[in-house]
Amino acid sequence: MTSFVITNGTVVTEDGPIDTDILVDDGVIARLAPPGSARAESVIDASGLVVLPGGVDVHTHMDSPSGLGHTTDTHQTGTRAAAAGGTTTIIDFAPQSKGEPLPALYERWSEKMYGQCAVDYSFHATISSWYPSITTDMASLVNDGISSFKVYMAYKGAVMVDDRQLFEVLRASASQGSRICIHAENGDVIDAISQQLVDEGKTLPRYHKLARPSATEAEAVNRAIMIARLTDSAPYFVHLSTEEAVDRVQEARAEGLPVSAETCTHYLSLDDSVYDSDDFDVAKYVLTPPLRTRRDQARLWKALGEGDLSVVSSDHCPLCLVGQKDKGRHDFRDIPNGGPGVENRVLVTYSEGVAKGRLTLEKFAQVIATEPAKTFGLYPRKGAIRVGADADLTLLNPDSTTVLSAETQTQNVDYNLWEGWAVRGRIHSVYSRGVLVGSDGRHVGPDHHGQFIERAVRS
Ligand code: MN
Repeated sequence: MTSFVITNGTVVTEDGPIDTDILVDDGVIARLAPPGSARAESVIDASGLVVLPGGVDVHTHMDSPSGLGHTTDTHQTGTRAAAAGGTTTIIDFAPQSKGEPLPALYERWSEKMYGQCAVDYSFHATISSWYPSITTDMASLVNDGISSFKVYMAYKGAVMVDDRQLFEVLRASASQGSRICIHAENGDVIDAISQQLVDEGKTLPRYHKLARPSATEAEAVNRAIMIARLTDSAPYFVHLSTEEAVDRVQEARAEGLPVSAETCTHYLSLDDSVYDSDDFDVAKYVLTPPLRTRRDQARLWKALGEGDLSVVSSDHCPLCLVGQKDKGRHDFRDIPNGGPGVENRVLVTYSEGVAKGRLTLEKFAQVIATEPAKTFGLYPRKGAIRVGADADLTLLNPDSTTVLSAETQTQNVDYNLWEGWAVRGRIHSVYSRGVLVGSDGRHVGPDHHGQFIERAVRS
């Protein structure tokens, strides 16, 4: 592969933003050199641009069973959208079928993603169908480079684990060095509240919010932390949305427990006022947990700044309003939960975070790339601009704007959570292992470019 140099840009390294040339050779960052000093076969002028580590999105659901159908992005269309939006590595969720042994799940999801992805990829194995030797089988996946698993504390009768199973999975992960992603909501309580709402005739999508009060998240986070501390494991909470839950994480971390957590783009940028309508379009925002108050949102930003939340993921779970979400027209419980965002995560977080003065450029790079890579065993190959790392680079124009819309998006779904927003910044170009995969907010390059990346256990 020809070597090239990126020059004149503001390069966000782990030591902060610096002026440096980046020399890329054979898909790898070969050298950081004083501005104007590097020589290569071609030169990319990044004047006026911010050069970031390629985004790492550790929470996507592509071609995944949901409600009565599947999420609408295949691994091909979803990773094109990732590339378009500045994300160069995804970790997808592989959902276990009923009775499916984990090694079979590994084979099935590996085959499904192989040759389909526009950017590099891995997946977490979701544990939702228990069998006696399942914790032993977890170890075989860890050996194959899948060093993380997911469990749900909600959706009883579908994917929910009970406390004993949660304990056993956490205990197994401690000796394996694997990491357990936890969807923390009290499923039993949510089911009871939902039933009561429907019994009272409250079936519109707006009631999705009332069915999942803040305490159902905080209680589950607290319970999981208490169970995890019995096992010396390192739980990772997905999609935290509330002040109360973040407070529980912050307290555990202050005690020195190895607890980490993410929030998602939509919790940082949208709030629960969207549910103040009887319109069925509110189903667009039926995602789980629901959008929360402005006060919760402020707590999430503070926690990102202070490190109690370390990752921003998309929880990309695209489901069309027409033909999928409208199955729940008469009962909000039948609306498949989820919303799109793999394409929008980097820019929306930049615009709401950096451009509004809530995050430094350095912290921004950490939460969209470095920390997700470190948490899930991809670092130092992924997640940072450093010598020896893959040349996964996202060049962003901070002086331009981007209008977000379903009309112009790459992700394959019939709406956009930020429809009509003119966000600060524009994705100028995206490189994966030195290959151009994104240009001016569009995917370019081959669909089969993405490679499976084996992930290390936690240190
Ligand atoms: Mn999810």
